[in-house]
Amino acid sequence: MRLTLLILVTAVGLMRVQATVRVVTTLSDLADLTEQIGGDRVKVDYIVRGDQNPHFVEVKPSYMIRLKSADVFLMIGMELELWAPQIIDGSRNSSLEAVDLSKGIEKLEVPGKLDASQGDVHRYGNPHYWLDPRNIRPMSEEIIAALAQVSPSDEQYFRARTDVYLKRLDGKIAEWEATMKPFRGRKIVTFHKSWTYFANWLGLVVADEVEPKPGIAPTPGHTAELIQLVHTGDIKAVVVEPYYDTSAPEQIARSTNAKVLRLPTSVGGVDAAKDYISMMDYNIAMLANALK
Ligand SMILES: [Zn+2]
Repeated sequence: MRLTLLILVTAVGLMRVQATVRVVTTLSDLADLTEQIGGDRVKVDYIVRGDQNPHFVEVKPSYMIRLKSADVFLMIGMELELWAPQIIDGSRNSSLEAVDLSKGIEKLEVPGKLDASQGDVHRYGNPHYWLDPRNIRPMSEEIIAALAQVSPSDEQYFRARTDVYLKRLDGKIAEWEATMKPFRGRKIVTFHKSWTYFANWLGLVVADEVEPKPGIAPTPGHTAELIQLVHTGDIKAVVVEPYYDTSAPEQIARSTNAKVLRLPTSVGGVDAAKDYISMMDYNIAMLANALK
């Protein structure tokens, strides 16, 4: 009898140690951040690969199955993931905690109510805020709150790990800012408006996008205008996310002094982007090299 009780107590004890918060994220960057915060007390999976366009994801039943057994679903929000509600509904998981991480973010490019000329995407403002590393702090707060809701006794553990990570990130931010300081005020062209927050952080100027409007494919007329702009504006870099076609950017580069830079916007977008910090290391090094 006593032995049975002992086994039972031990088993319950083991279960407690092995209790994990099951998290699914939309982006690979959010999966990396959640692992940094949650350590061995989370099990994390994500939906969009780093070399996939996060705006347009084909909804698959397997995504719904993944969400069915999850506790927490983390999203960038601001309608970046227009496809996410369909997966949430399809999962039929009534206890799922779906969290929009944009809550504490100072949002850029929020259109006025009557401004319908902004293109097809981003009517709640520009959602690409995770590429400003200073936004990782408010995002982390939301993630801690979401994880602690499922596992309140681990809140201090999550917080301690976050402090260590953010301290390391602060060191990297200072390093990245120092590398990019000579290039403040310099102009770049980007394919999509993915780099608004990144450019704002570093004092770079996005002179124009290869897309005539967000979500709209390049047109010969707009590309011709860009060639003129790159020429006269002494622009040295055309930044292209890994999931866009490079023909229009390459056409611009051929007619000017600019280089096409394939820069990842998410972990896994290029081989060097193993996690968020190494992704930013890569982007900063590539840009600094192109602008010098
Ligand atoms: Zn976008």
